[in-house]
Amino acid sequence: MISAPSRKGGGIFVNAATFAYPSGAHGGIELGHSIDPERGPVTPIRRQYLKIKEAYRDSIVLFRMGDFYETFDDDAKLVASELDITLTGRSLGKNLRVPMAGVPAHSVDSYLARLVKKGHQVAICEQLSDPATSKGLVDRDVVRVVTPGTVFEDSLLDQKANNYLAAVSVRDYSSPNPVAGLAYADITTGEFAATELPLSQLSLELGRVAPAEVLATEAGASALRQALGGPAPTDPQWSATAIDDSDFEHGQAEAALLSHFRIHTLESFGCEGLPLAVSAAGAIVGYLDRTRKSTKVQLNNLAVYSAQQYMALDARTRRNLELFEGGRGLTGSRDARELSLLAAIDRTRTAMGSRLLRRWLGQPLLDLYALERRLDAVDSFYRDGLARGAVASALAGIADLERIMGRVVAGSVAPRELLALKSGLEALPELRERVAGLAVSDDAQGLQWLYSELLPVPEVIALIEAAIEPEPSGSVGEGGVIRRGFSDRISELRDASVNARQYIAGLEQKERDRTGVRSLRVGYNQVFGYYIEVPKSQTGNLPGDYIRRQTLTNAERYIVPELKEYESLVLNAREQLAGEEEEAYRRVCAQVAESASPVARAVAAIAQVDVFSGLAQTAVDNGYVRPAVDEGPVIRIRDGRHPVVERVLASGDYVPNDVELSGDARVLVLTGPNMAGKSTYIRQVALITLLAQTGSFVPAAEARIGIVDRIFTRVGLQDDLATGQSTFMVEMVETAAILNQATPRSLVILDEIGRGTSTYDGLSIARAVIEHLHNDPRLGCKTLFATHYHELTQLASSLPGLRNFSVAVAEDGNDVVFLHRIVPGGADKSYGVHVARLAGLPQGVINRAWEVLGDLESQGGNGRGRTSRPANPAQASQQLALFAPGSELADVLRALDVPNMTPLEALNKLYELQEQANSLP
Ligand code: ADP
Repeated sequence: MISAPSRKGGGIFVNAATFAYPSGAHGGIELGHSIDPERGPVTPIRRQYLKIKEAYRDSIVLFRMGDFYETFDDDAKLVASELDITLTGRSLGKNLRVPMAGVPAHSVDSYLARLVKKGHQVAICEQLSDPATSKGLVDRDVVRVVTPGTVFEDSLLDQKANNYLAAVSVRDYSSPNPVAGLAYADITTGEFAATELPLSQLSLELGRVAPAEVLATEAGASALRQALGGPAPTDPQWSATAIDDSDFEHGQAEAALLSHFRIHTLESFGCEGLPLAVSAAGAIVGYLDRTRKSTKVQLNNLAVYSAQQYMALDARTRRNLELFEGGRGLTGSRDARELSLLAAIDRTRTAMGSRLLRRWLGQPLLDLYALERRLDAVDSFYRDGLARGAVASALAGIADLERIMGRVVAGSVAPRELLALKSGLEALPELRERVAGLAVSDDAQGLQWLYSELLPVPEVIALIEAAIEPEPSGSVGEGGVIRRGFSDRISELRDASVNARQYIAGLEQKERDRTGVRSLRVGYNQVFGYYIEVPKSQTGNLPGDYIRRQTLTNAERYIVPELKEYESLVLNAREQLAGEEEEAYRRVCAQVAESASPVARAVAAIAQVDVFSGLAQTAVDNGYVRPAVDEGPVIRIRDGRHPVVERVLASGDYVPNDVELSGDARVLVLTGPNMAGKSTYIRQVALITLLAQTGSFVPAAEARIGIVDRIFTRVGLQDDLATGQSTFMVEMVETAAILNQATPRSLVILDEIGRGTSTYDGLSIARAVIEHLHNDPRLGCKTLFATHYHELTQLASSLPGLRNFSVAVAEDGNDVVFLHRIVPGGADKSYGVHVARLAGLPQGVINRAWEVLGDLESQGGNGRGRTSRPANPAQASQQLALFAPGSELADVLRALDVPNMTPLEALNKLYELQEQANSLP
C-alpha cells in the first residue's frame, strides 16, 4: 500500500463527490443530468468521461480532475491492483456505483512508469480550460497516449540504452518464404531505421533491436506471437500492439512518411523496391501521430539497412557471452551490468556515446572497409595520448544532446537544457580540430570522413546565446528566461515595470513633501493594491485628489489617480511579460528545432568521437592491441584474455592463452576438469572476435581475425527452469538450430553440450554433433567445443580438422592446481574427486570416493577415464564389474532421473548408497 498524501475529507485518492455532484473546484458548475440507458441518470462529467473512454478503449484513461488523475470502472480496478492503491466506489444514483481509483497529479510520472513497464497503454486526459474561469463543464481531452515504445519522460528511460518502438509488416504469413518488413524508432533520440528480411530471421533481428513495443496488424500480432513463441521470461520484454490494417497499407504508409519528412518522394531513403519496409515505417509514423497527438516527434532520417550487413547474434548467444549483463555464476553484490562486456570496454563520456557503443556491440560489422575505418579511428586516438585527453575533457561536460533535441522538437525543453545544448555544441570546433590533428598511420584511410561530420552549428549556438539568460529562472514567464536585449517588446515591458516600481518607490517622499505629513507611507496589499496611508490625526489637510479607500483604527488609506496608473503599469507589465516571454521562448525553440537535422548529424559525430576515443582509452588502460581483420578463414590469437574475467581477477592473475582456428584445424575440442577454465577460454575467443568486428582493440598480444558472419554459443545444462522446458530439450533444440543455420564463416562455441542427459546419451550426442559440424560440407564452421567427456579426444584420429587441447593441471598428491593454461592434447583424467574436494564435500565422502575409485581402477585397469564412463560399451562392461547384469546397484542407478535431480537430492542419494555400501560385509 502506498502512503496517500493527505487530502481534504480524509479519503484516499478519491474524488467521487465531485464526480457525482460536480462543483466549481473540479470541473466547473455542471447542471442537469442525463440518462445512461443501461444505468440510469448520469452527470455531465460522467458523460464526458464515457465519451472519451469510448475513443480510447484500449488504454487506461487517466482523467484529470483538479490535483488528481482519476480512473473509473474497469480501469480503476486494474489500476488499483497494478499500483496497489485503494479502490473506492461511489453511488451515483439509484443503480449506479462507479469504482474509482486515482493518483496525485504531481507524482503521476512514477505511477505512469509502473503502468507502462507492465505493458499497459495509458491515455492522459487533461483539463484544457482553466476551471477557475470556465463556465460549465471544463473542456477535457486526451493529449497523449503513453505506451512502452512512446515514453518520453527521463524518469521512464534508461540513459544508457535506447527505447525502441518497432513495427512489423508481413504480406503473407502462409507463403512458402514469407518476407517481413521491420522498422524501429527511438523517439527520444530521433533514430529511425527500416529493413526487409525473411520472416525466419525476424525473431533474430527483433531480438537484437529489443524494442519496448512492437506494432503489427491484428492478425499479424497473433501470428507474430505464435511465430516467435512470445518472449521467453529472460528475453527482453516487448509488448505487441495490434493496430489497424490500413496503417500498414502501402499508400497510406508512404503518405504518412512523406508528410512527416515533408518531402515528395522516398527515393532519397533508398527504400524503393522495399514496400514492406515502407509499410512498417509508415505505420510507426501514423501510430506516433495518434499517440503523441499534437506533440511533434523528431525522427531525423529513415536509415534503410540490410540485416546482412551485420554479424548475427541470437538472444541466447548475447546472453551467454554476457554482452550487456553478466555475472552469471559469480555471486556477490556486484551489479550484473558491471560484469558485462559492455562495462569492461565502456569509457565513453556522454550518454549518446554510451548508447552508440551499446548498439555497435550488439551489431558487429561484416564489411571489411567499414571495420578498418573504425579501427583506424580508434588507432589514431590510441597513438595520440594528448588528443585523447583533450577530447575526453571536452566531452566530459556534454549533456544528453540527442534527448534534449528530442524535447526541443516536442516543445517540452527547459531553458537550462537549451543552455546545455549550446555548451555541448560549442565543443564541436575543438573536437574537430583534435580530429584534424590526429596522426594517421601510413596505410590508414584517414579520418577526413569523421572530420567532415563534425560540422559546427554556429547559428544554433548564436541563437541560444542571444535569446536565453545565462542563469535563467526555473520557469518560463517569470521574466528571467529571455535574455535582456533579445526582444524589444520584452525589454520595453521590463523597463516599464522597473520604472513604475521606481516611481512608486519615490512616491512616498514626494507625497510627504506635498502634504507635509512626515509619517505618511506607501504600502501594498492584495485586496487594494498600492495605497497611501495617513494617520487619522493628520488627515485634515490632504490634497483634493486623495480618494479614501479603507479606514483602519488609527489611520486612513487613500489612493491618488497617478498611483493607480503606475500600479496598473506594473501589473500589466508583469502579465504581458509572462505572455511575451512564453511566446518568445516558443519561437526560439521552434527556430532551434528547424536545425534539428544538422544538429542531429553533429551530435551523431560527437557520439562517434566519444566511442572511438573511449575505445582507445580502454585499449591503453587494459593493454589491448589492434586486431588484423581480413576475409580469410583463420582466427589466430596470441596471448588472448577474457576481457571481463581478467578485470575481476587481481592484476597479473589472468593466464593468457593462444588459439588457432583455420580450415585445417577448424574444430577444437577442449577437455579438462570442471573449474579449470574451459568456458572462460572458449568464450574469450568469441569475445575477441566480436570486439574486433565491433572496431575495438582486443585483449591479446596479437590477433588476426577472419571475419565471421555469425557467432553461436550454446551451453549445456543451464538453469532454464524458468521457461518450464526440460533443460535437455532446450539444449537439443538449440543445437539443432546451429546445425541448421551455421555457415562456413560462422564461429560456434559449444560448452558441455550433452551434459543434460545420461552419460552414454550425452557422450553419443556430443560426438555426433562434433562429427556433423566437422563433416557436413555445408558447415565446416569454426568450432570450439568444451567438454569434460575426455573420451571425445579419440575423435582426433578419425576427423582430420579436429584438434585436441586441454587445460593444464598440476597434481600434488590428492590436490590439484588449475594452471588455466591451454595445452595441445586431450586430458587423460577428469579429476572429479579432486574438484569435489575443492568444492568442499565432507572429507569422509572424499575419502570413500578415493577408495571406490581405487577399487574401480584395480578392477577395470587402465586409469584413463577414471571417473567417467568410457565411450565403448563393450569395454565398459568388462571394466566395471559393479555394473554387471543383475547388479542391484545398476538397477538403483538406472532408476534415477539424474537430469531432473537437484544437487542436494543427488548428494543425498549418494550418501544413502554409501551407507548401504558401508553396511555390506
Ligand atoms: P570450466 O568451464 O572449466 O568449468 P571456467 O571457465 O568456468 O571453468 O573457469 C572457472 C574459474 O577459473 C573462472 O571463474 C576464473 O576465475 C578462473 N579462470 C578461468 N580461466 C582463467 C585464466 N585463463 N586465468 C586465470 N583464471 C582463470
